[in-house]
Amino acid sequence: MYEVECQSIEPERIKFKGMIEEYFKENGIEYSDSVISKFANFRVGKLPSWLCVWMCKNDEEVVAVIAHELGHWKLNHTMFSFIAVQILTLLQFGGYTLVRNSKDLFQSFGFDTQPVLIGLILFQHTVIPLQHLVSFLLNLVSRAFEFQADAFAKKLGYGAPLRAGLIKLQEENLSAMNTDPWYSAYHYSHPPLVERLAAIDEPDKKTD
Ligand SMILES: [Zn+2]
Repeated sequence: MYEVECQSIEPERIKFKGMIEEYFKENGIEYSDSVISKFANFRVGKLPSWLCVWMCKNDEEVVAVIAHELGHWKLNHTMFSFIAVQILTLLQFGGYTLVRNSKDLFQSFGFDTQPVLIGLILFQHTVIPLQHLVSFLLNLVSRAFEFQADAFAKKLGYGAPLRAGLIKLQEENLSAMNTDPWYSAYHYSHPPLVERLAAIDEPDKKTD
């Protein structure tokens, strides 16, 4: 589900909103008016896709960024992430049940009874190492998805405008541009600009 919003009074931006809505309608893509407040975005510390779209002032770049987002949809990335989160939640509840029911674990920490709160604290400390591993794996997958979505936009012929759009977004975000590959692989869900541009610039494989 895509959310569209335009708080600008610039006629050019309002025109873009109409263009994007038309594009969504033509392609049968569901969308609604955005319900997220600016404050919520500020707190999450992330730029939602629709905001990224508004930051690109050039028509081609806007379409290129949308092509990237539609790549996520077309390649089922959204569904994958949704299922992954459900499985992780299930595992967390299952893990907590195991810890809560383990008499030995409570006893080894000096508790003869099994209070719920202590169980929760023990569980939190047990899963920390696992959480690091899971977040690393999720970042690995998410980064692969970003490259795939970029490749999708490139395949549609938006390689050059996507390149320009990404550079413009980087300028507005002021985020790190060329991070150490090991650091970014562990900490970032999106590959840094230099890695993305390098992937876009790679010559196409002649398989299709
Ligand atoms: Zn993306």
